[in-house]
Amino acid sequence: MDTGFESNVSILDGIGKRRAELLAAAGICRVGDLLDYFPRTYLDLSEPVSIAFLVDGVQAVVRAEIVKPVRKVRLRKNMTLYQFAVDDGSGCLEIVLFNQEYVAAQMAVGKEFIFFGTATRKGRRFEMASPLIETVDNAGILPVYRLFGGFSQKLVRRWVEQALKISLPNIEEILPQDILERYGLMSRREAYSAVHYPQNMQTLKEAQHRFVFEELFLFSLGLHTIRANRQKKTAPALDKEIDMSDFYAAIPYSLTRAQHRVIEECIQDMKKDIPMTRMIQGDVGSGKTVVAAAVIYYTVKNSKQACLMAPTEILAVQHYEYFRDLFEKFGLSCALLTGSTKPAQRRQIMEQLQSGEMDLLIGTHALIQDFVQFRNLALTIVDEQHRFGLKQRSQLSQKGICPHMLVMSATPIPRSLALILYGEMDLSVIDELPAGRKRVSTFLVSSDYHTRMYRYLREQVAQGGQAYVVCPLVENGEDDSLKAATAYAKELTNLFLRGLDVRYLHGRMSATEKENVLHDFVDGKVKVLVCTTVIEVGVNVPNANIMIIENAERFGLSQLHQLRGRVGRGTKKSYCFLVSDTENVVTKERLSSFCATNNGFEISRKDLQMRGPGDFFGQRQSGLPLFRHADLIRDMETLSAAHEAARQVTQNPAWFAEPSSVYLKRAVLHLFDQTDLNILS
Ligand code: ADP
Ligand code: MG
Repeated sequence: MDTGFESNVSILDGIGKRRAELLAAAGICRVGDLLDYFPRTYLDLSEPVSIAFLVDGVQAVVRAEIVKPVRKVRLRKNMTLYQFAVDDGSGCLEIVLFNQEYVAAQMAVGKEFIFFGTATRKGRRFEMASPLIETVDNAGILPVYRLFGGFSQKLVRRWVEQALKISLPNIEEILPQDILERYGLMSRREAYSAVHYPQNMQTLKEAQHRFVFEELFLFSLGLHTIRANRQKKTAPALDKEIDMSDFYAAIPYSLTRAQHRVIEECIQDMKKDIPMTRMIQGDVGSGKTVVAAAVIYYTVKNSKQACLMAPTEILAVQHYEYFRDLFEKFGLSCALLTGSTKPAQRRQIMEQLQSGEMDLLIGTHALIQDFVQFRNLALTIVDEQHRFGLKQRSQLSQKGICPHMLVMSATPIPRSLALILYGEMDLSVIDELPAGRKRVSTFLVSSDYHTRMYRYLREQVAQGGQAYVVCPLVENGEDDSLKAATAYAKELTNLFLRGLDVRYLHGRMSATEKENVLHDFVDGKVKVLVCTTVIEVGVNVPNANIMIIENAERFGLSQLHQLRGRVGRGTKKSYCFLVSDTENVVTKERLSSFCATNNGFEISRKDLQMRGPGDFFGQRQSGLPLFRHADLIRDMETLSAAHEAARQVTQNPAWFAEPSSVYLKRAVLHLFDQTDLNILS
């Protein structure tokens, strides 16, 4: 069936083999691709300026009549100049064309045209060289396309116009009618037409809005589909009544109301035989680990297995030790699996997992490898989610019969963004910090301040405190930069930290080395830890109360927040120093704004605004599509609306049976094509 849309561009006038190749090189093969080739910008010819008001060197639209016949001047071989005067009643303007014989021939005295170009003063008159010339019936808003292949604006316009003519009647609406109505959206056909040839600016806006909405709607629909498919699977229903009071009695503090609420939400989910898919958001230090522990306890007491995945080896080790010690009291067993686990040990762990002897497996990415097989895995927890993309998330959920899945965020993010990143999940928020937490006082200082700052650090250490000094070592960089950075760290220590118990911690150390260092720090044998961002996520040493971040300008806001989150975890008053000699005004502003707030939600919003979504999310890793129309910052409101609309559609299964949904499904698949996410499995 030839809908016009699918035909090769060569069916259009003036497109032969050579041109078709050039178009294809720009990604335009089908007629429909031309429709999707949206203008870069627009030229508003509907409001011309009076010639009397032209300004030297400024672009202007003029609508005027030709008052003098064209004069032809042959400058040299291959260069002919055409010159004529136009008048709009307010004044006279000289137009100059080069070599455009065909155009010049149409410039007959008495005819009116629209001219767009830069006005230049020539003596008492203005001149416009090589303007864009349009007939007066084109007095509307003209599309301006990004040019390629040496084609002119006119040519591209003509092709798009033709493409519109051929395929417009065949453009199918993909959004459900009631959604169009409810959200006041323009029809797809109208929108295509208006985005290329808008009647006025208002229509153009509406058309653009429609495409943004459509894109975000399709994306949300994909997420809802992932979710719906997951919910079609069966999970082990953990419906044994578990007395949690033993667990709570083993925790040295009482949980916050928010923690209790979130644990309860998870337990309610897991009682069902539908896989839980839940994200826990909570600011740094809000106590997500103990929530995970409670949920694991509940699972294991239901005679099932659980696993917990952490983004770094250090964090995995730390979690392992915490859970091992906590669960020992209950006779529950727990193993650690990372990239550096020895083969023999690994084999043993595998056996214990398969026999069901092992209740909990903790580890890094190593957990998603195929050889990891459980006897009856019922719960998967991913900690500090920021590092794991949608794809890894879905890989993890494919282990065994579909286990319940809990994801814990690294950095809290505003709700609208959570919809994008975690839109396929239910959301629980720990919106309360444990009692007795004091805000971390944060200061931005220059390196002139080093002496005073480190003196302060010594005082704090003398009073029983501990400190982190973070140097931005390049973790995976060349040895040179590592050496340079290590040298810098050594220099700092020799200069300012002499005589203190200082140790280094960086990503290049072996797992055991890292563990040993961290242990000594946890035990308080080591007072100062000079480290790289390996401590960025999750590390928990409540006694530490000083955080110094050297070259703070090199870090993003969310990362700084993570780093600062390593202190202020206990009851000690904590301090964070950002050391930076940057002269950059924007950077200074960014760092100062960071000093002013401890609120992770605010910080992530600001971070996103400053860095843009690509950087913030790490587009590639996160598995997000690259949106063509939507801008995640500008279009946040549309996103919420689109997400809600998609939810309503997926809640009505009957709708999917309607023939019109075929186009919609196809569009969703098309969007997710770029993400290597299989939304159908
Ligand atoms: P995060 O949410 O950043 O992962 P953690 O789970 O590591 O935070 O908890 C941070 C610190 O707060 C830990 O030392 C933990 O023992 C402590 N903590 C957690 N919940 C409470 C609570 N309800 N009361 C007191 N301290 C708590
Ligand atoms: Mg944590």
